[in-house]
Amino acid sequence: AATNAINRGILWERYETDEDEVFWKLSILNEFEQALGRGDVWVAYQPKLDLHSNAITGAEALIRWIHPDRGFIRPDRFVRAIEDAGRIDKLTLYVLERAIADFAPLGLSVAVNLSMRMLGKNKLEAPLRDLLETYGMPAEKLTLEITESATMTDDQGMAELESLRALGILISIDDYGTGQSTLSYLKRLPASELKIDQSFVRQVLTSRSDAVLINSTIKLAHELDMRVVAEGVEDQQVLDALAGMECDIIQGYHVGRPVPLAEFVSKLPHKITS
Ligand code: C2E
Ligand code: CA
Ligand code: CA
Ligand code: CA
Repeated sequence: AATNAINRGILWERYETDEDEVFWKLSILNEFEQALGRGDVWVAYQPKLDLHSNAITGAEALIRWIHPDRGFIRPDRFVRAIEDAGRIDKLTLYVLERAIADFAPLGLSVAVNLSMRMLGKNKLEAPLRDLLETYGMPAEKLTLEITESATMTDDQGMAELESLRALGILISIDDYGTGQSTLSYLKRLPASELKIDQSFVRQVLTSRSDAVLINSTIKLAHELDMRVVAEGVEDQQVLDALAGMECDIIQGYHVGRPVPLAEFVSKLPHKITS
């Protein structure tokens, strides 16, 4: 019933109401594995528009959980609960396998969000190597989006990122501009992409300081041979402003919302049916 409701667009983006946090966490954790098995947990894809070719060249994978009673559960909220319970590995590997299996036949790029708690435990390289080989996806079609945080100064985590980079997988710095020590991360991380956070992007037309920050961030990233993605682009004027600043890739409701794979594919100009 939940899936039908999504297809009819009824439950879409309608969040559940708050309840006691501790109680909520416990029930969520208990229900998560069941939900995976039942198909209540799935992966949505939000298109990325390449401004150089003016084509959709890939998507970001975003986890979705439509609970039979609670409705749409905010992903940032349940991802954090699963992280805190030390069970993020299962979720991450689930999303990675879906994304790689879904996108390898399309020949498009896909980006997956990586919890920092996954890094430094050596739990990624072997499964990723396997998945890329099993589904026949070239490593450079996979991007891992990581958020700047204090844990990034961790040496083991850094070494693991280097080894993933050595496989050919791309690393992207997500929510750029919202963390701390931004400049030192730029220097230390083996990243090839920078995603400017929506909070800046949204203000590009109304705040002169945000426009200046975005413009100089794009120049800086290009000097460092990194490409720049702007997320949260909701209208054409913002897109035009970013294009004028030579931003490389655009993501946001103006290009497309996160949708199930079939809907993503049906909106591509040349439908790929393999
Ligand atoms: P994020 O990685 O920064 O993802 C971008 C969020 O912005 C998504 O929210 C997306 O739906 C939303 N968004 C995209 N374009 C627009 C726009 O034009 N306007 C507005 N208002 N919002 C836009 P979502 O899907 O609710 O995900 C929230 C966060 O949950 C993500 O933020 C990410 O940190 C986390 N998350 C989602 N899926 C996963 C996952 O598979 N693994 C991990 N570790 N975290 C995930
Ligand atoms: Ca992201
Ligand atoms: Ca982001
Ligand atoms: Ca975010």
